[in-house]
Amino acid sequence: PASIATLLRWGQVQLKASADLLNPLDAEQSSLRLEAELLLATAAGLRRTDLIAWPERQISAPERLRYQHFIHRRGQGEPIAYILGEREFRGLPLRVSPATLIPRPETELLVDWALARHPPTTPIRCADLGTGSGAIALAIAMERPHWQILALDYSVAALAMAATNRERLKAAHVQLIQADWLSPIAAQRLDLILANPPYVAARDPHLSRGDLRFEPPGALIAGADGLAAIRRIAAELPSHLTPAGQVALEHGWDQGAAVRALLRQAGLTMIETHRDLAGQERFTSARAH
Ligand code: GLN
Repeated sequence: PASIATLLRWGQVQLKASADLLNPLDAEQSSLRLEAELLLATAAGLRRTDLIAWPERQISAPERLRYQHFIHRRGQGEPIAYILGEREFRGLPLRVSPATLIPRPETELLVDWALARHPPTTPIRCADLGTGSGAIALAIAMERPHWQILALDYSVAALAMAATNRERLKAAHVQLIQADWLSPIAAQRLDLILANPPYVAARDPHLSRGDLRFEPPGALIAGADGLAAIRRIAAELPSHLTPAGQVALEHGWDQGAAVRALLRQAGLTMIETHRDLAGQERFTSARAH
Protein backbone atom coordinates (compact mmCIF):
# COMPACT_ATOMS: atom_id res chain seq x y z
CA PRO A 1 0.00 0.00 0.00
CA ALA A 2 0.97 3.61 -0.47
CA SER A 3 -0.46 6.93 0.67
CA ILE A 4 -2.48 9.30 -1.48
CA ALA A 5 0.29 11.91 -1.26
CA THR A 6 2.95 9.44 -2.43
CA LEU A 7 0.83 8.16 -5.32
CA LEU A 8 -0.03 11.66 -6.51
CA ARG A 9 3.63 12.66 -6.46
CA TRP A 10 4.58 9.50 -8.34
CA GLY A 11 1.83 10.00 -10.91
CA GLN A 12 2.80 13.59 -11.52
CA VAL A 13 6.43 12.60 -12.12
CA GLN A 14 5.36 9.85 -14.56
CA LEU A 15 3.08 12.20 -16.46
CA LYS A 16 5.76 14.88 -16.61
CA ALA A 17 8.25 12.40 -18.08
CA SER A 18 5.76 11.28 -20.76
CA ALA A 19 4.70 14.84 -21.50
CA ASP A 20 8.32 15.91 -21.99
CA LEU A 21 8.71 13.07 -24.43
CA LEU A 22 5.44 13.52 -26.36
CA ASN A 23 4.59 17.15 -26.07
CA PRO A 24 7.18 19.35 -24.30
CA LEU A 25 5.09 22.52 -24.62
CA ASP A 26 2.09 21.01 -22.92
CA ALA A 27 3.69 19.86 -19.66
CA GLU A 28 2.12 22.21 -17.15
CA GLN A 29 2.75 20.99 -13.61
CA SER A 30 -0.62 22.23 -12.37
CA SER A 31 -2.58 20.31 -15.01
CA LEU A 32 -0.45 17.18 -14.48
CA ARG A 33 -1.25 17.36 -10.77
CA LEU A 34 -4.95 17.75 -11.58
CA GLU A 35 -4.83 14.78 -13.96
CA ALA A 36 -3.10 12.62 -11.35
CA GLU A 37 -5.81 13.59 -8.87
CA LEU A 38 -8.64 12.79 -11.27
CA LEU A 39 -7.12 9.42 -12.17
CA LEU A 40 -6.46 8.44 -8.54
CA ALA A 41 -9.92 9.54 -7.44
CA THR A 42 -11.52 7.40 -10.16
CA ALA A 43 -9.21 4.42 -9.52
CA ALA A 44 -9.93 4.48 -5.78
CA GLY A 45 -13.61 5.41 -6.00
CA LEU A 46 -13.02 8.66 -4.09
CA ARG A 47 -13.82 12.29 -4.76
CA ARG A 48 -11.01 14.72 -5.55
CA THR A 49 -11.82 16.59 -2.35
CA ASP A 50 -11.25 13.36 -0.37
CA LEU A 51 -7.71 13.15 -1.77
CA ILE A 52 -6.92 16.69 -0.79
CA ALA A 53 -8.47 16.36 2.66
CA TRP A 54 -6.71 13.13 3.59
CA PRO A 55 -3.27 12.86 1.89
CA GLU A 56 -1.90 10.25 4.32
CA ARG A 57 -4.76 7.80 3.69
CA GLN A 58 -3.52 4.41 2.40
CA ILE A 59 -4.74 3.13 -0.98
CA SER A 60 -5.26 -0.63 -1.33
CA ALA A 61 -3.14 -2.68 -3.74
CA PRO A 62 -5.87 -3.32 -6.37
CA GLU A 63 -6.79 0.37 -6.44
CA ARG A 64 -3.14 1.33 -6.70
CA LEU A 65 -2.67 -1.03 -9.66
CA ARG A 66 -5.70 0.46 -11.35
CA TYR A 67 -4.27 3.93 -10.84
CA GLN A 68 -0.85 2.89 -12.18
CA HIS A 69 -2.56 1.48 -15.26
CA PHE A 70 -4.48 4.76 -15.75
CA ILE A 71 -1.26 6.78 -15.43
CA HIS A 72 0.40 4.49 -17.96
CA ARG A 73 -2.45 4.96 -20.47
CA ARG A 74 -2.40 8.72 -19.99
CA GLY A 75 1.38 8.63 -20.48
CA GLN A 76 0.77 7.00 -23.87
CA GLY A 77 -1.31 10.02 -24.82
CA GLU A 78 -4.78 8.54 -24.40
CA PRO A 79 -7.29 11.35 -23.70
CA ILE A 80 -8.10 11.65 -20.01
CA ALA A 81 -11.82 11.75 -20.86
CA TYR A 82 -11.59 8.21 -22.30
CA ILE A 83 -9.67 6.89 -19.27
CA LEU A 84 -12.15 8.43 -16.84
CA GLY A 85 -15.02 7.50 -19.19
CA GLU A 86 -16.53 10.89 -18.56
CA ARG A 87 -16.42 14.54 -19.67
CA GLU A 88 -18.44 17.47 -18.48
CA PHE A 89 -20.44 19.45 -21.04
CA ARG A 90 -22.38 22.53 -19.92
CA GLY A 91 -22.22 21.17 -16.38
CA LEU A 92 -23.57 17.74 -17.37
CA PRO A 93 -21.44 14.67 -16.61
CA LEU A 94 -21.48 12.76 -19.92
CA ARG A 95 -20.19 9.23 -20.39
CA VAL A 96 -17.77 9.08 -23.33
CA SER A 97 -15.87 6.28 -25.05
CA PRO A 98 -13.66 5.97 -28.13
CA ALA A 99 -16.93 5.51 -30.05
CA THR A 100 -17.69 9.20 -29.55
CA LEU A 101 -15.96 12.51 -29.99
CA ILE A 102 -15.01 14.12 -26.66
CA PRO A 103 -17.35 17.09 -26.21
CA ARG A 104 -15.51 20.42 -26.44
CA PRO A 105 -16.24 23.62 -24.52
CA GLU A 106 -16.50 25.53 -27.83
CA THR A 107 -19.61 23.54 -28.68
CA GLU A 108 -21.30 24.87 -25.52
CA LEU A 109 -21.53 28.23 -27.34
CA LEU A 110 -23.70 26.70 -30.05
CA VAL A 111 -26.06 25.39 -27.36
CA ASP A 112 -26.08 28.82 -25.67
CA TRP A 113 -27.02 30.40 -28.99
CA ALA A 114 -29.87 27.95 -29.58
CA LEU A 115 -31.30 28.43 -26.08
CA ALA A 116 -31.01 32.22 -26.22
CA ARG A 117 -33.00 32.36 -29.47
CA HIS A 118 -35.67 29.81 -28.59
CA PRO A 119 -37.53 30.52 -25.34
CA PRO A 120 -38.87 27.58 -23.29
CA THR A 121 -42.44 28.80 -23.74
CA THR A 122 -42.61 27.85 -27.44
CA PRO A 123 -42.36 24.09 -27.87
CA ILE A 124 -40.51 23.27 -31.05
CA ARG A 125 -39.07 20.31 -32.88
CA CYS A 126 -35.28 20.23 -32.81
CA ALA A 127 -32.62 17.84 -34.14
CA ASP A 128 -28.95 17.29 -33.25
CA LEU A 129 -27.17 15.71 -36.24
CA GLY A 130 -24.21 13.46 -35.43
CA THR A 131 -25.03 13.56 -31.73
CA GLY A 132 -22.13 11.31 -30.59
CA SER A 133 -22.30 11.14 -26.78
CA GLY A 134 -25.55 13.16 -27.03
CA ALA A 135 -23.90 16.35 -25.79
CA ILE A 136 -25.85 18.96 -27.78
CA ALA A 137 -29.22 17.19 -27.66
CA LEU A 138 -29.01 16.46 -23.93
CA ALA A 139 -27.77 19.94 -22.99
CA ILE A 140 -30.80 21.34 -24.87
CA ALA A 141 -33.10 18.72 -23.34
CA MET A 142 -32.15 19.69 -19.77
CA GLU A 143 -33.23 23.28 -20.42
CA ARG A 144 -36.20 22.60 -22.68
CA PRO A 145 -38.29 19.76 -21.22
CA HIS A 146 -41.24 20.45 -23.55
CA TRP A 147 -39.42 20.36 -26.86
CA GLN A 148 -39.43 17.40 -29.19
CA ILE A 149 -35.74 16.58 -29.54
CA LEU A 150 -34.25 14.16 -32.06
CA ALA A 151 -30.66 13.00 -31.67
CA LEU A 152 -29.30 11.39 -34.84
CA ASP A 153 -26.12 9.50 -35.48
CA TYR A 154 -24.85 7.10 -38.10
CA SER A 155 -22.83 5.14 -35.54
CA VAL A 156 -24.73 2.54 -33.51
CA ALA A 157 -21.96 2.55 -30.88
CA ALA A 158 -22.32 6.33 -30.49
CA LEU A 159 -26.11 5.99 -30.16
CA ALA A 160 -25.62 3.42 -27.39
CA MET A 161 -23.45 5.93 -25.53
CA ALA A 162 -26.05 8.67 -26.10
CA ALA A 163 -28.71 6.27 -24.74
CA THR A 164 -26.63 5.72 -21.58
CA ASN A 165 -26.35 9.47 -21.10
CA ARG A 166 -30.04 10.01 -21.79
CA GLU A 167 -30.81 7.45 -19.09
CA ARG A 168 -28.41 8.97 -16.55
CA LEU A 169 -29.77 12.47 -17.14
CA LYS A 170 -33.38 11.27 -17.25
CA ALA A 171 -33.99 13.03 -20.55
CA ALA A 172 -36.56 10.57 -21.86
CA HIS A 173 -37.96 13.13 -24.33
CA VAL A 174 -34.83 12.85 -26.48
CA GLN A 175 -35.46 10.43 -29.32
CA LEU A 176 -32.41 8.57 -30.68
CA ILE A 177 -32.40 7.70 -34.38
CA GLN A 178 -29.84 5.99 -36.56
CA ALA A 179 -29.46 8.21 -39.58
CA ASP A 180 -27.13 9.22 -42.39
CA TRP A 181 -27.65 12.96 -41.77
CA LEU A 182 -31.29 13.93 -42.34
CA SER A 183 -32.55 11.39 -44.88
CA PRO A 184 -34.69 9.13 -42.63
CA ILE A 185 -36.76 11.94 -41.09
CA ALA A 186 -37.96 13.45 -44.33
CA ALA A 187 -41.60 13.37 -43.21
CA GLN A 188 -41.12 15.73 -40.27
CA ARG A 189 -39.97 19.31 -40.73
CA LEU A 190 -37.78 20.76 -38.00
CA ASP A 191 -37.79 24.20 -36.35
CA LEU A 192 -34.18 23.95 -35.26
CA ILE A 193 -31.28 21.92 -36.62
CA LEU A 194 -28.00 21.82 -34.71
CA ALA A 195 -24.80 19.93 -35.47
CA ASN A 196 -21.16 19.57 -34.59
CA PRO A 197 -20.38 17.52 -37.69
CA PRO A 198 -16.95 16.21 -38.70
CA TYR A 199 -15.07 19.07 -40.34
CA VAL A 200 -11.36 18.21 -40.29
CA ALA A 201 -9.65 17.75 -43.67
CA ALA A 202 -8.39 14.20 -44.28
CA ARG A 203 -4.74 15.29 -44.43
CA ASP A 204 -4.84 17.80 -41.58
CA PRO A 205 -1.64 17.28 -39.51
CA HIS A 206 -3.64 17.92 -36.30
CA LEU A 207 -5.13 14.45 -36.71
CA SER A 208 -1.82 12.97 -35.56
CA ARG A 209 -1.63 15.12 -32.41
CA GLY A 210 -3.25 15.11 -28.99
CA ASP A 211 -6.72 13.75 -28.33
CA LEU A 212 -7.59 13.61 -32.05
CA ARG A 213 -5.36 10.52 -32.49
CA PHE A 214 -7.74 8.54 -30.29
CA GLU A 215 -11.10 9.92 -31.40
CA PRO A 216 -13.30 8.19 -34.01
CA PRO A 217 -12.19 9.32 -37.49
CA GLY A 218 -15.83 9.33 -38.59
CA ALA A 219 -16.57 12.08 -36.06
CA LEU A 220 -13.60 14.20 -37.17
CA ILE A 221 -12.79 13.76 -40.85
CA ALA A 222 -14.97 15.09 -43.66
CA GLY A 223 -13.27 14.51 -46.99
CA ALA A 224 -10.29 16.22 -48.55
CA ASP A 225 -11.40 19.76 -47.59
CA GLY A 226 -13.21 18.96 -44.31
CA LEU A 227 -16.50 20.23 -45.75
CA ALA A 228 -18.04 16.99 -47.04
CA ALA A 229 -20.47 16.60 -44.12
CA ILE A 230 -21.49 20.26 -44.00
CA ARG A 231 -22.04 20.18 -47.78
CA ARG A 232 -24.45 17.27 -47.38
CA ILE A 233 -26.26 18.84 -44.44
CA ALA A 234 -26.60 22.18 -46.24
CA ALA A 235 -28.11 20.46 -49.27
CA GLU A 236 -30.68 18.67 -47.10
CA LEU A 237 -31.68 21.72 -45.04
CA PRO A 238 -34.25 23.32 -47.42
CA SER A 239 -36.47 20.24 -47.42
CA HIS A 240 -36.19 19.67 -43.65
CA LEU A 241 -36.63 23.12 -42.07
CA THR A 242 -39.97 24.73 -41.27
CA PRO A 243 -40.50 28.14 -42.97
CA ALA A 244 -39.06 30.04 -39.97
CA GLY A 245 -36.70 27.19 -39.08
CA GLN A 246 -33.16 27.89 -37.98
CA VAL A 247 -29.87 26.04 -38.17
CA ALA A 248 -26.49 26.29 -36.46
CA LEU A 249 -23.47 24.29 -37.64
CA GLU A 250 -20.08 24.14 -35.96
CA HIS A 251 -17.02 24.31 -38.24
CA GLY A 252 -13.29 24.95 -38.30
CA TRP A 253 -11.80 28.40 -37.62
CA ASP A 254 -10.96 28.82 -41.33
CA GLN A 255 -14.21 27.47 -42.80
CA GLY A 256 -16.60 30.34 -42.03
CA ALA A 257 -16.65 31.79 -45.55
CA ALA A 258 -17.09 28.36 -47.16
CA VAL A 259 -19.94 27.43 -44.80
CA ARG A 260 -21.70 30.75 -45.39
CA ALA A 261 -21.45 30.14 -49.15
CA LEU A 262 -22.92 26.63 -48.81
CA LEU A 263 -25.85 27.93 -46.74
CA ARG A 264 -26.44 30.76 -49.25
CA GLN A 265 -26.44 28.24 -52.12
CA ALA A 266 -29.05 26.23 -50.20
CA GLY A 267 -31.27 29.33 -50.18
CA LEU A 268 -30.98 30.15 -46.48
CA THR A 269 -31.03 33.72 -45.15
CA MET A 270 -29.75 35.73 -42.17
CA ILE A 271 -26.48 33.82 -42.34
CA GLU A 272 -24.21 34.75 -39.47
CA THR A 273 -20.90 33.31 -38.22
CA HIS A 274 -20.19 33.39 -34.49
CA ARG A 275 -16.78 33.51 -32.84
CA ASP A 276 -15.58 31.47 -29.87
CA LEU A 277 -13.86 32.85 -26.76
CA ALA A 278 -10.50 32.71 -28.54
CA GLY A 279 -11.94 35.04 -31.21
CA GLN A 280 -12.02 32.31 -33.89
CA GLU A 281 -14.99 31.72 -36.19
CA ARG A 282 -16.63 28.64 -34.69
CA PHE A 283 -20.21 28.14 -35.88
CA THR A 284 -22.59 29.61 -38.43
CA SER A 285 -26.33 30.09 -38.03
CA ALA A 286 -29.02 30.78 -40.60
CA ARG A 287 -32.79 30.81 -41.23
CA ALA A 288 -34.79 28.91 -43.80
CA HIS A 289 -36.36 32.05 -45.33
N1 GLN B 1 -13.15 20.62 -32.68
C1 GLN B 1 -12.46 19.41 -33.05
C2 GLN B 1 -10.99 19.69 -33.19
O1 GLN B 1 -10.53 20.15 -34.21
C3 GLN B 1 -13.05 18.81 -34.30
C4 GLN B 1 -14.41 18.35 -34.04
C5 GLN B 1 -15.16 18.06 -35.27
O2 GLN B 1 -14.65 17.72 -36.32
N2 GLN B 1 -16.43 18.20 -35.16
O3 GLN B 1 -10.28 19.49 -32.25
